[in-house]
Amino acid sequence: MNIQWYPGHMTKAKRAMKEDMKLIDLVIELVDARTPLGSRNPDIDELAGGKARMVLLNKSDLADEKANEEWVRYFTDQGCHVVKVNCKTGNGLKQISPTVQEACREKIERDRRRGILNRPVRAMVVGIPNVGKSTFINAFAGRACAKTGNRPGVTKGNQWIRLNKTLELLDTPGILWPKFEDQKAGLNLAFIGSINDEILDKEELALELIRFLRGRYPGVIEKRYPGTETGEDSPFQILEQIAQARSCLLKGGASDSAKAASILLDDFRSGRLGRITLELPPAAAG
Ligand code: GDP
Repeated sequence: MNIQWYPGHMTKAKRAMKEDMKLIDLVIELVDARTPLGSRNPDIDELAGGKARMVLLNKSDLADEKANEEWVRYFTDQGCHVVKVNCKTGNGLKQISPTVQEACREKIERDRRRGILNRPVRAMVVGIPNVGKSTFINAFAGRACAKTGNRPGVTKGNQWIRLNKTLELLDTPGILWPKFEDQKAGLNLAFIGSINDEILDKEELALELIRFLRGRYPGVIEKRYPGTETGEDSPFQILEQIAQARSCLLKGGASDSAKAASILLDDFRSGRLGRITLELPPAAAG
């Protein structure tokens, strides 16, 4: 399956992010726990320069818990400060403030040596589209947040959300663009719905998902769509079985595989197939 991404106005976005970087101490990067590397954009390393960094493993409710733990270990081993969160329920958010303090310890100590006390850490949330940046900002800032208003030197009407005495967040997240070196990472992004479905063949995508599920999570299709029996069938035959199980029929009684493809992808994306992780950390993958 051939997935292409056309960068369009990326240069402008990159420039804007570079400007915002000048205002902050800490980059809070959101990734999707179902494909933590696939949903990252490695350009952030260059863009963030020497800023303190934190990774939030978001949508952890949709991902395999065992795999979540492996990813936490992986990022920790890489020297990242990582927190596993579910921005929809707020799970894990409490751990963020203490982790911010840890991630910015050097800056806080440097301030202290210079006699600057209690200057809040300023942070920016970044991530590719759909990883949950807005949901995170709303959940984390909650209703208690106070926008501190425009300040000199803050361009584009950016505002700071004061979360508490120690942390301020730029109210507009930095949007990174999906970047993938190989087709597998592209597929994973397409599975989670981070590549516009309009440029993809949904049926082909669903067939790829069936191949993956059958290999890594045997039984989930049978469980979700009673009456299906994936056995020796080809992915296309399985898609037809899903169509039958969901009564997606065309005139004349043939299976509506296009509709079944949409159902399968929706079910996967919303967690109705269960908690599924698409990629494991490099060391644990074998
Ligand atoms: P953004 O484009 O990065 O700002 O992403 P959004 O905040 O708009 O979130 C994209 C979608 O993911 C929305 O439908 C959110 O409700 C959903 N979402 C965000 N965080 C979570 C999470 O932790 N768990 C689940 N299940 N869904 C989430």
